[in-house]
Amino acid sequence: MLEPDSCEDCGHCCEGIGSPVLLYVTRDHESGNHPFRPPGLPAELQSEIDAAFGGLFRGQEPQDRCLWFDPATRRCRHYEWRPQVCRDYELAGTACLLRRREVLGG
Ligand code: SF4
Ligand code: SF4
Repeated sequence: MLEPDSCEDCGHCCEGIGSPVLLYVTRDHESGNHPFRPPGLPAELQSEIDAAFGGLFRGQEPQDRCLWFDPATRRCRHYEWRPQVCRDYELAGTACLLRRREVLGG
């Protein structure tokens, strides 16, 4: 399989992995700065995450696709606010190539 040079029309790494944005969920029992949530995350995005995942820990959420993934456009709905784990995921890196092979074959 050819190495991808763009994420256009792909998004396979945003499916089948749960929702990395669950890391941003509000934890009532914790005080001080949130360990993962970026400063300035818009309130409406926070509310959506809390409504979807309140009380859950990472891995307990539905595993079909990330809450922020739009399957119609195959893009992240809030790419500028994506978690660090998504920023670290390299286009054409090992995980990307494995994921694409898993979904697309080849
Ligand atoms: S990083 Fe790889 S698997 Fe993820 S959207 Fe881009 S090309 Fe697809
Ligand atoms: S936050 Fe965005 S980039 Fe990260 S898994 Fe979800 S949809 Fe994909």
